Amino acid sequence: MRDLSAGPRVLLKRLRELMAEPLEPQERLDRIVRQIASNMVAEVCSVYVLRSDGVLELYATEGLNKEAVHTSQLKMGQGLVGTIAASAQPLNLSDAQAHPAFRYLPETGEEIYHSFLGVPILRAGRTLGVLVVQNKASRNYREDEVEALETTAMVIAEMIATGELKKITRPGLELDLTRAITIDADAYNEGIGLGHVVLHEPRIVVTNLLNEDAEKEVIRLAESLGSLRISIDDMLSRREVSQEGEHREVLETYRMFAHDQGWVRRMEEAIHNGLTAEAAVEKVQSDTKARMMRLTDPYLRERMHDFDDLANRLLRQLTGFSGRAFDEGFPTDAIILARAMGAAELLDYPRASLRGLVLEDGAVTSHVVIVARAMGIPVVGQAAGVVALAENGDPIIIDGDDGQIHLRPVLDLQKAYEEKVRLRARRQEQFKALRDVEPVTKDGKRISLQMNAGLLVDLPQLAESGADGIGLFRTELQFMIASTMPKLEEQESFYRNVIKQAAGRPVTFRTLDIGGDKVVSYFRAQEEENPALGWRAIRLSLDRPGLLRTQLRALLRASAGAELKMMLPMVTEVSEIHAVRELMQKEVQHLSKFGHSLPRKLQFGAMLEVPALMWQLDELMAEVDFVSVGSNDLFQFTMAADRGNARVSDRFDNLGKPFLRILRDIARAGERNKTVVTLCGEMAGKPLSAMALLGVGFRSVSMSPTSIGPVKAMLLGLDIDKLSAELNVALDDIRSTEPIRALLVRFAEANNIPV
Ligand code: PEP
Ligand code: MG
Repeated sequence: MRDLSAGPRVLLKRLRELMAEPLEPQERLDRIVRQIASNMVAEVCSVYVLRSDGVLELYATEGLNKEAVHTSQLKMGQGLVGTIAASAQPLNLSDAQAHPAFRYLPETGEEIYHSFLGVPILRAGRTLGVLVVQNKASRNYREDEVEALETTAMVIAEMIATGELKKITRPGLELDLTRAITIDADAYNEGIGLGHVVLHEPRIVVTNLLNEDAEKEVIRLAESLGSLRISIDDMLSRREVSQEGEHREVLETYRMFAHDQGWVRRMEEAIHNGLTAEAAVEKVQSDTKARMMRLTDPYLRERMHDFDDLANRLLRQLTGFSGRAFDEGFPTDAIILARAMGAAELLDYPRASLRGLVLEDGAVTSHVVIVARAMGIPVVGQAAGVVALAENGDPIIIDGDDGQIHLRPVLDLQKAYEEKVRLRARRQEQFKALRDVEPVTKDGKRISLQMNAGLLVDLPQLAESGADGIGLFRTELQFMIASTMPKLEEQESFYRNVIKQAAGRPVTFRTLDIGGDKVVSYFRAQEEENPALGWRAIRLSLDRPGLLRTQLRALLRASAGAELKMMLPMVTEVSEIHAVRELMQKEVQHLSKFGHSLPRKLQFGAMLEVPALMWQLDELMAEVDFVSVGSNDLFQFTMAADRGNARVSDRFDNLGKPFLRILRDIARAGERNKTVVTLCGEMAGKPLSAMALLGVGFRSVSMSPTSIGPVKAMLLGLDIDKLSAELNVALDDIRSTEPIRALLVRFAEANNIPV
């Protein structure tokens, strides 16, 4: 590889020095353009910066009329400069005036310059402006000169990104980098979040741009690429790729990119032009991303994410950066932005500082969303591209009611949202006032309102929400946040603590529900084609009796002298319940043999999540003390629609005829068998759905604590018998095509029920 002239390197070095000098921004920019012009032997060098109104404004020039600075402007796509900005591609012309896009700006006096070279100023794939050099003589700039100008543009990008140019931006205008953006997304969990962006996978900002020794940098790059390739091969050869959340296809794409010679060559060229290895990676990443961001094909755009991830991995290798970087500390009002995230990763953040979560992917009943809901933080999802548009620390508002994201909001909008937050707080106060009101319907039916939980921090909400108890305690969360398998003593003391804090209110512990999308890092299951239908929950527990027996023992010991309420997840056949009962019997014998005191009473339940149980309802209910419907899973299996895949998860209505008929059958079976039936899936927490559940016969529901108030407000105004009468007619009417949801909305409106 040839080492290009020392020119670009000298220039970069000089520019770095200029960046470090204590200069006023205009002065710094003026000196920068002068330096570039002299180094590149160009008569003109100009910087155009993109404003939020889509206009490129001349910010500095050497060679053109000085009066044109801050006056000359071109729209995106207009003239040569606008064309470069819009396409994010350089333009290299020996006769600029002959180009069809050329636009004559008389104030600049540029008509005497024939040759023109312009490159986009890019940062993380976004165009921030355009850098141009011009010469009188007609000539074509060499490839290495184009490269050198692109490299120089990186320095200017850094200057723009620091916000320094704000000082010389005319009042009332703002730069595009700080532009307010509104993105329409899906509302996953209600609430308003005001705060500052925390990128879950932060971009690594390379500050060490300039190399001392190009050969050394080429070697560093080659070494890091080597380690990167090995780590990808490693991930591919491990059988648990899918457990890691990284699908084989994605890894195959990574491997392809990692071996792409064109990519390597372009990075090496950038190094020979004076950049460090990491700056070269960043430069090529930004150029590639800028081009790919302009593609509309969703498949190719997805590949852009893969390429971006790969380049970030390479940057991490080169810089040794692994953690989360916050120059000014972790914000106390953090809104996390992620492409995708596991539930355990969310739990790693300091909870008291979390104000919201934004997911580019994800679905409303995915576990990370459930955990966020349990934490009471607003969530929006399906927010394509938001991660690329945001920087760590940007002000942001998320609206979990309407599914909107406002990045860098203008002051008026911020004020409007602050008002909205105050209104919500007032409404929350009203719900709080209902805390001690008995949940009895208008026609006198006492409903059991319970809450879902999974961590100790959830417990205070029991008293605050006024819930009757914990209807679903997801024990797997303790396992998901631990780095090693919790031992018997740890489990026991955890359960003991939960029971103590529940202060006499019943807690329904669900035995371990791992597998599927609930990943426990230290428990490596095998790769599965269909994990949701695979080796998970009670299936896994029965095949690993040591695991289950430890948990049962911990639960029995923690409930000594009290009532133990427990249930099994994902039961498919009644025989599975027998098997667990047998193990339970053994544990009871073991404990009594060693003189431990036992629970005063044992309530044994099963979750109804697998449709096969619908045809064993009487046998099931003869076997257990209670049944709890896991509507998230029961719905996904009934409709054959993956709850974690946003394309299909809410494609079908869970208030449609099929699912409501199923739920009615379950409630009727409960009545027939005198077995308590509860529902603890997400639908219990939505007032309209909860109303439907009461209408089809449920008298007990369990939901996230923040939903208790709104659901109670709904049921206080509800006459269940009246609703059931209407609902049953509709559910039995095989000719009617009116959606049941519409009937429910109409009923609520007609009867003044807040839903
Ligand atoms: C359900 O499936 O509805 C349920 C409550 O369990 P989880 O969401 O934990 O799978
Ligand atoms: Mg479930």
